[in-house]
Amino acid sequence: MSNSNTTGTTRYDMKIDVNTNSIMKQIKVLVRNRINVTAFIHILAFTTISFSQVDLSYYLPEISYEEDMPTPESILDFQIGEWHISHDKLAYTMKELCENSDKCIYQEYGRTHENRPLINLIISSPKNLKNIDKLRKQHAQLTDPQLSNKIKTEDTPVIIYQGYSVHGNESSGANASPLVAYYLMAGQSDMLESLLDNAIIILDPCYNPDGLQRFSTWANSHKHKNLTTDASSREFNEVWPGGRTNHYWFDLNRDWLFTIHPSSQARIENFHKWKPDILTDHHEMGSNSTFFFQPGVPSRTNPNTPPVNQSLTEDIGNYHAASLDSIGSLYYTKESFDDYYYGKGSTYPDINGCIGILFEQASARGHLRETKNGLLSFPFTIRNQFVTALSTQKAGLKMKETLLNNKRDFYKKRYDNATDGYYIFEEEDYYKKNYFIEMLNRHEIEVYKNDKSRKIGQQKFDTKHTYIVPIKQRQTTLVKTIFEKVDQFKDSIFYDVSAWTLPLALNIKYAESQDKILIDKKNQILNTPTFKNNEIINEKAFALAIDWSSYLSPALLNDLQSKGLKVRVIQQNTNFKSNNKSIQLQSGDIIVPLSNQSMDKQEIIDYITQKSNELYVNIRSIDSGLTADGKSLGSPSQEVLPKPEVAIIVGEGINAYEAGDSWYQLDFRYKMQVTMIDKNDLPFTNLDRYTIIILPDGNYSTENRGHKKIKEWTEEGGTILCMRKAIKYLSQVGMINLTVKKNKNLSKADSTHTKFRNYRGSQVIGGAIMEAVVDLEHPLFFGYKDRTLPVFKKGTQFYEVDQASASPMQYSSSPMLSGYASKTNQSKAENAMGILCSRFGRGKIISMVDNPNFRGYWLGGSRLFANAIFFNSLINEDSLAE
Ligand SMILES: [Zn+2]
Repeated sequence: MSNSNTTGTTRYDMKIDVNTNSIMKQIKVLVRNRINVTAFIHILAFTTISFSQVDLSYYLPEISYEEDMPTPESILDFQIGEWHISHDKLAYTMKELCENSDKCIYQEYGRTHENRPLINLIISSPKNLKNIDKLRKQHAQLTDPQLSNKIKTEDTPVIIYQGYSVHGNESSGANASPLVAYYLMAGQSDMLESLLDNAIIILDPCYNPDGLQRFSTWANSHKHKNLTTDASSREFNEVWPGGRTNHYWFDLNRDWLFTIHPSSQARIENFHKWKPDILTDHHEMGSNSTFFFQPGVPSRTNPNTPPVNQSLTEDIGNYHAASLDSIGSLYYTKESFDDYYYGKGSTYPDINGCIGILFEQASARGHLRETKNGLLSFPFTIRNQFVTALSTQKAGLKMKETLLNNKRDFYKKRYDNATDGYYIFEEEDYYKKNYFIEMLNRHEIEVYKNDKSRKIGQQKFDTKHTYIVPIKQRQTTLVKTIFEKVDQFKDSIFYDVSAWTLPLALNIKYAESQDKILIDKKNQILNTPTFKNNEIINEKAFALAIDWSSYLSPALLNDLQSKGLKVRVIQQNTNFKSNNKSIQLQSGDIIVPLSNQSMDKQEIIDYITQKSNELYVNIRSIDSGLTADGKSLGSPSQEVLPKPEVAIIVGEGINAYEAGDSWYQLDFRYKMQVTMIDKNDLPFTNLDRYTIIILPDGNYSTENRGHKKIKEWTEEGGTILCMRKAIKYLSQVGMINLTVKKNKNLSKADSTHTKFRNYRGSQVIGGAIMEAVVDLEHPLFFGYKDRTLPVFKKGTQFYEVDQASASPMQYSSSPMLSGYASKTNQSKAENAMGILCSRFGRGKIISMVDNPNFRGYWLGGSRLFANAIFFNSLINEDSLAE
């Protein structure tokens, strides 16, 4: 299911009464579904036989199959549906199937964090496969407005990309994929022959191998010999964080646009290699549902998606309906789910001349469970995914010309109607700039070096570190959705975020111009240039300075501290001599003296030079400890910076996504050792070694003995960094004082049932971008250059600013930058508190109302997070709130 459950654990507990009536109903369903009724009665009486034992004919259409082809069962040693397939076995099975057929090419297109392969089975007629590259390139020309008119669609195959289980614990899709592969390769019918002559089918058996592996282990290790159907059983209730997410607990079905993870990066490159005409995304939802296929709620479609996309989705839907009718499965469409956020697998294709389709199957979670609709077996869920995979193929074949023309029209019309203007952005930091340019290129968006000085409104851009993205280009629609600010909405209810304006997320200077721009193709940026510090550092150097505004400087700082080097921090802008020239170091810049260290001088110089090049961090050579401004390097105010020891509280109740955001930032980007402590283990954990403990968003019980432990540790001098709902918890247990901004309630006269429901929905902030004003002199904002900072706002926590000195970040007086928030919430956001720094005993609490690391792409917030980790000791005691 694609919901954004915030606690990270999804439970669908629903007990039902197994009375005689419902048993009879279930038997009728079973008859219709060709499951052995005697076996079912046997379960009720003796509960000894596995309900999930079905044979291949339960799934497959009645056609003949090549006898030489191995079946999935012959490879796996169990029938599909009997056990949950692990990713290891899935990959092996797909490879075996493919190697036994001349209708298939097996390809690995990437690896996950846990080094599992991301795979494709490219399935078509042997004749097509011999010319696969030629066919692929010919098909791709449909997306080129200059060439597409020449393409004969009757000679061009349709490309159907079928992907499964991006949420690892929604496993029926991945389990159906070997059946789909077997059917395509072994099946013999006129329809199949025509399909493989006219289509290239790309199977992606699992979008999230790491999550599937985790979940399959859970489901299999809790399977009973006598299947237990009680939904309260542990089999159906994974422990935190569950298999939905990837290795770092990110939702990969939100990462198609910003491609933070290696698997998403590989997937998008692969998507553009094939440029499919239909892409499917097979999920699961709550167990008491039936089956859903897109289109979703019409008013919740992103306006950048052409209306024809929804009507074609509906035409394809007729094929799904017919297939599900034929096996007697219930389904629905249009009433829920949306097509708004392009970071989702079924929505991203919609602005790439492709039809993206979301499927949602009621989840069995385990092997057989009681639901409102009767007993739901794992094989039944697999079969629905299987038949809709086949109906997708059938639709692809029957609608081939329409789909190919749709692709051609999409690119031609969008290009012809695009304006001649451009976006311009400027960013000096190598990491941020490269992330952005690489991301744009991955989506096949053209980026150019800016070749002259330009003034747009009040903003000036010169040629250095400045880039142009023309609006009139092939991927003009993607350009728009990545850069635009949105403030108009057809619907006020959002399934996920309502805004994602990327230059705001990255906190980079940018502007839009409607002036016509002439592009010199030779200025296009295709490859990432290498980074090299050009600073001359000779043996006369007294110290080295590290630029704190470089994105990965926290990684360098951590590395040096881990090596035992003593470092200091510049706490206010100071002038130094560097190679006999005067330079100004900014607050936050790190100083590494070259003497009295555990390494010798030349060793330190060589090491830092090498590391800073690896981490794209700017360094400077400092000639002397004496400064022009008075405060020399040996000043009593310049103490050695302590090395942080970080723990993150995780476990049941904690928002796994946001705990994952912090984990990913520290482990993957800053390359730090970080301890994850389970909330329930807190009472038994010695916290003495930690200097800072992160409390991510989540539900914390005030009853838990762990809170006493945290309280004592803070009183004795520890620092807490708490975010979002963790703030509420600390305020409930009396560790921080806050004034909540008052809520204006819906007037009683207006609260009819439907109005109230819609009102409640419209008061949610699923994700919007707001502007905050920051105190650049505060250690939490060292390394920032602008007084304003875009923040990602989710939820409706708004607090008053009770003490300005303790609140170095506040929302501005007119904070809405992009996205949806109700008028009530917008007015509550005005001048609201963003951060509170308070005292508790001898310790400190840094409360962040918003998650600075949202989904790993909110790079504008990373520095703030790093400062809280590394610089909390620099926060002036007198400025803290009591
Ligand atoms: Zn899902």
